[in-house]
Amino acid sequence: MNREVISAAVLLLLALALGSIVDAYGWALFAGSVTWYVLQWREYRKIRGWAKRPLRTPPNTSRGWFKLANSPFRSLQQERSRSRLFMTRLREVMALVQVIPDAVIILNKAGEIEGFNIAARNLLYLKDSDRGIGLASVVRSPDFIAFLKSGASESLLEFTSPFDQDRNLEARSFPVEQDRFVVLVRDNTELNRLLTMRQNFIANVSHELRTPLTVVAGYLETIADKEQPDDLRLSLIDKLTSPLARIRSLVDDLLLLTRLESTPVPAQLDPVAMTTVISNAVNEVRGLAQSPDQISVKITTQARIKGIETELYSVCVNLLSNALRYSQEGKPVTISWQEVDGKAQLCVVDQGVGIAPEHLNRITERFYRVDMADARTRGGTGLGLAIVKHVLRRHHSELFVKSTVGQGSEFFCNFAIAEPAQANAPASLNA
Ligand code: ADP
Repeated sequence: MNREVISAAVLLLLALALGSIVDAYGWALFAGSVTWYVLQWREYRKIRGWAKRPLRTPPNTSRGWFKLANSPFRSLQQERSRSRLFMTRLREVMALVQVIPDAVIILNKAGEIEGFNIAARNLLYLKDSDRGIGLASVVRSPDFIAFLKSGASESLLEFTSPFDQDRNLEARSFPVEQDRFVVLVRDNTELNRLLTMRQNFIANVSHELRTPLTVVAGYLETIADKEQPDDLRLSLIDKLTSPLARIRSLVDDLLLLTRLESTPVPAQLDPVAMTTVISNAVNEVRGLAQSPDQISVKITTQARIKGIETELYSVCVNLLSNALRYSQEGKPVTISWQEVDGKAQLCVVDQGVGIAPEHLNRITERFYRVDMADARTRGGTGLGLAIVKHVLRRHHSELFVKSTVGQGSEFFCNFAIAEPAQANAPASLNA
């Protein structure tokens, strides 16, 4: 109100000053009163306009009449802006809860569903109409029901999804606010699968290493035994080569697989001349061939592909060595490099033992063998096709297999051509 008194006093002084100048105090006071009235009338109109919706912030709260008129509503206005802020925060939290990949369900004291997020819809098939219904009657797993009934806070339950027997779920329950619970349910299927894979992998590696190591230990024991004849001990030193080579190739393959999984593909790849890679790979596996002409090389394109030469070399070596190892009596093995439907195709064909259809989609798994005992006698680490699969994936390609038991197999993969073929490509080369 002080401002109102001061402005009235100022107006009065101005009117008096004007009156003394024009020597007409009466008219000057009249003009001052009219001005004062007009100002107050404008204030009154503003207050009237605002009073229709008093919770809205007044246009000028510092003016005296407004302050007076607004004061009863000020705490209501503050309360309203506080609740607006609270609602904004609540919406933010709800948006966060919605995108959490774990199912989040809010239960009341009676265990009835009050709210849930998107993951709960997907994982536990909760629907809006389930609100107000007990969670135990929607998710009908005996273990889960017992867990909910026990009310054991922050405890953990692993259970099988009642909706899909192949899904492993993990539930936790937390008390929140008064008499409410938050139940978190997580899908552990993938995690468990990876853990099982890791355990199997370690068991397989240990098993693969143990066999040659046992042989080496046996030989060494005899070699160290001075009572054994010298010629026997000497002959055993030669025999160490084979199991040691087996251990080395297993370790080499394991290291290669780890490198393939952990090293990113370089952003810039140079074009690789596959004809040279194939010819080097053929030289590498020549020792496995029964006769010099067992391997044929058919090159009908000079197309180059962008890739990592050493990795593509290991693809050729693995496919060729498999073709030779799984072929009896020196049956022919052909490796070809050709253009098919605008792509460059690497193909290795043998007339060996072949693979039954039920094994085809598993042979690229680590240590998977169609016939474990047979594969051991043929050598190999059980990692060859796993390496091939990884390398091809890194080159945006994949391995295809056609095979008939007793007739042979055809392994092939296609690559995008980086440099077009040249016209003078040789039609066929024999290794
Ligand atoms: P391995 O070292 O045992 O050959 P791979 O990963 O190279 O391991 O191959 C996995 C399995 O796939 C082999 O054990 C074998 O059973 C089968 N296989 C691979 N290549 C051939 C082939 N050319 N002919 C028949 N079977 C094959």
